[in-house]
Amino acid sequence: MALILPPPLVAALWAHAERDAPRECVGALGGHRHGAQAQAAALYPLPNVAPDPERSYLADPGHLLRALRAMQLGGLTLVALYHSHPRGPAWPSDTDTRLAAYPVPYLIADLPTRLLTAYHLPGGERVPLHFRDG
Ligand SMILES: [Zn+2]
Repeated sequence: MALILPPPLVAALWAHAERDAPRECVGALGGHRHGAQAQAAALYPLPNVAPDPERSYLADPGHLLRALRAMQLGGLTLVALYHSHPRGPAWPSDTDTRLAAYPVPYLIADLPTRLLTAYHLPGGERVPLHFRDG
């Protein structure tokens, strides 16, 4: 499984991460699956309603549901979830792993190093990212 991310979506993801810092940002990516690859096509920033948003994230459930419905209406499926680590690191926290509930790659935007990485959770396998349009 590899994830293709068009550069404009990557730029929008980093802009969201910067806007919400020092709080963690969270959002969803809709797109298309082609066999072992998934191509992201739309970014859905979501409110982080975690009690301690500087250390964890929890996507607002109502907003997440609306994003999933918007994807469905647009012929897209959920291909990834993302959140930021305003103080790093570029890998999942114990909480990220424990609370992971979707069978899609979890993207982590590490602000200090500007590294974007993706993992299958709770297993922790890295997901290769390709930054291109198609
Ligand atoms: Zn995290």
